[in-house]
Amino acid sequence: MAGQCIVGLYTNHGPIATQCYDDLIAEDGSGPLKLTWQDIGTKKNIRQWCADRDSVGEIVVHWESLPSSNQGGIQSCIFSIAPVPWSQSEISTETYRKIIQWNLSESRPGTRAVSAYGEGPQPLERTGSLKDILPLFLMVGPIRSYPPVSDLVKASHFGYYWFGDDTLERVASLGPFLSGMFQKMSDLFHDPPSETNGYRIFVRCATPAQAHGGAAGERNFLLEYNDALPTMSPEGVMYLLSHEMVHNWPILDSNPFGTDLNDLVAWFNEGTADFYGSALPYRFGLANKTSYLNQMNAILTAYYTNPLRDISDKEAHERKFETSNAMDIPYKRGFAFFCCLDREIRRTVQGTSLDNLIVEISQRKMRGEPHGLPIFLDLIKDVAPDMVQVFHDMQSGKLIVPPSDSLGSDFELVAEPQEVFDLGFTEGSITSRIITGLSDDHRARDAGIMEGDEILKNTFLWQCRGSLDQQMRMKLKRDDKELEVTYWPRSYKKVQSWQFREKLVV
Ligand SMILES: [Zn+2]
Repeated sequence: MAGQCIVGLYTNHGPIATQCYDDLIAEDGSGPLKLTWQDIGTKKNIRQWCADRDSVGEIVVHWESLPSSNQGGIQSCIFSIAPVPWSQSEISTETYRKIIQWNLSESRPGTRAVSAYGEGPQPLERTGSLKDILPLFLMVGPIRSYPPVSDLVKASHFGYYWFGDDTLERVASLGPFLSGMFQKMSDLFHDPPSETNGYRIFVRCATPAQAHGGAAGERNFLLEYNDALPTMSPEGVMYLLSHEMVHNWPILDSNPFGTDLNDLVAWFNEGTADFYGSALPYRFGLANKTSYLNQMNAILTAYYTNPLRDISDKEAHERKFETSNAMDIPYKRGFAFFCCLDREIRRTVQGTSLDNLIVEISQRKMRGEPHGLPIFLDLIKDVAPDMVQVFHDMQSGKLIVPPSDSLGSDFELVAEPQEVFDLGFTEGSITSRIITGLSDDHRARDAGIMEGDEILKNTFLWQCRGSLDQQMRMKLKRDDKELEVTYWPRSYKKVQSWQFREKLVV
């Protein structure tokens, strides 16, 4: 059909622009097929290419993409580089054969090529919908991995990949921990790994510093770090990856573009990742008690010292790209809610726990059955009916404080005032790389930061958010001179917060 949509590409991913091509070259059974593009959608953020005549047979589309290289290799994501089959302003819902194949004939000896489907260069194929194709990472170059050789990766269905010898030891050494977590999480969620059901983590060294730590896709994850990483504890990296791994399983179904209650499910998806990502390393014997408590308390600090802790989920959703304080809210209040729910289920039904509900949602997702919010609320109603009201309170912004014995009888929750998280200037400065909106009465100004300073480097915000020990280190440029500033990104004001500790035996 003339005017038929052939392929489309989102022009941005949050604040990041993708590779928006001007022209694509296409041909079909009749020869060259002219494609014309148009940016559509209310935000004009979908580039859609349509044909000027009826297509005949198989359509082949070519393009050249130039992702930036790092450490001698290339990493990218299908979302950023590949126009994919499209129909009438959205990604096609048909079933496809999806094949990834590499031509390494002109690459240096030793070049490896990996995607979430596995290691090439030979073709690796999946059949199904396109929903897993956009968040699929690709990596090619002098790849190192755990397990170290591709045959072992194949056998374990788990791979952890990075480039070069200069990757930090604390990053490169995480393979055995992550592999162990993957095997044990697969058991917990009753989802045995297989050749077509593996999991792969890709590491990317990136500069300049940004606030992002990574991005999750279907059965793969990209960890992005930069030279601010040495300020992060090895355990911080470990828990970040553990959180991301949980995302393979419990997900509430929703319309990602919807804004009603049933669609705002970040509290569940991120809350379960924070809850299980923090609890499972300890439960599986891969982290000690101190590490476990520190991690749980970091999440509570991030929640209770967030200046936006009382906003509703709807407002958090609307403001999530304006400020990471809003984006972080569902994660942390979801975590607090799951602490409450787990304790309530264990109290009301002997021998059960939150695991039963979360595994049920994961199983429903795997079987392709309904697994949205109404289903989850029904499950809660059956085992812990009082928690339905707590859920509604949470969504409207009411502060959630877990019962003191939420982590079991060995631990207790105690009240502890803590300083509010506050950079001392507008958060947009981190993205624009220019300090604006400097507060009058704040440690940032007291440390010598001035309006208009250019930011060359900074500590990740998410490292500061959950830690009262973390200083903000910035390398700034002012009048062609570079200067380094370190200050505590906390306001002079305290709020009520809560922390877990080991129960004191008297
Ligand atoms: Zn997450």
